[in-house]
Amino acid sequence: MKNVLTTCGYCGCGCNYYVNVDNDVIVGITPKPDHPVSQGKLCVKGWHGYSFVHHSDRLKQPLIKQQDGTFKETTWEEAFKYIAQSFKNTINNYGPDSIGVLSSARCTNEENYLATKLARSVIKTNNIDHCARL
Ligand code: SF4
Repeated sequence: MKNVLTTCGYCGCGCNYYVNVDNDVIVGITPKPDHPVSQGKLCVKGWHGYSFVHHSDRLKQPLIKQQDGTFKETTWEEAFKYIAQSFKNTINNYGPDSIGVLSSARCTNEENYLATKLARSVIKTNNIDHCARL
């Protein structure tokens, strides 16, 4: 069994724990005793909220919506090219403030920081918000 150290993605507190992995399947969680935030404790989401990882409905490949409304599986490289081109087209046609970025309370502080950088430095909009007012 492997124990993989990670940051909980359920809220912005940033608790740390080890994900217990057996044959590529998550079988449990062990809190990190000496982490300055969680200090060996977790809430119920951190302890038990991992069943989605292996859920049969989970998307494993990016999908691009087609003209007829169906979704077509694609590669990550193609998906990122499509996203970048769509952003460029929107910015060229309507300006950078036509785009808004929504980040998430389920992201780490570092991921939310990167979302801010993407919005303000790359897209050049101050339209950024998040859902952390829980
Ligand atoms: S264990 Fe609970 S309090 Fe800690 S980061 Fe995860 S959701 Fe937030």
